[in-house]
Amino acid sequence: MPIYEYICLDCKQEYEQLRSFNEADQPMVCSACGGEHVKRKLSVIYAQSGGSTASGAGGGCGSCAGGNCASCGG
Ligand SMILES: [Zn+2]
Repeated sequence: MPIYEYICLDCKQEYEQLRSFNEADQPMVCSACGGEHVKRKLSVIYAQSGGSTASGAGGGCGSCAGGNCASCGG
């Protein structure tokens, strides 16, 4: 099951959510502010099947793309 990335357009909170394909575009409520303007981001992370992006080696914590990540500070 793919992990989709979502971002709340109201408070800019980002989420990773495990969802099936037919649930991917279902509406989602922001757990931080309760806003309904949560948008699915384009990047889809499968459970480390690929590895074409080399961003994991340099910076970031693996769950982020290197910017504004709360868990690694990158
Ligand atoms: Zn929010």
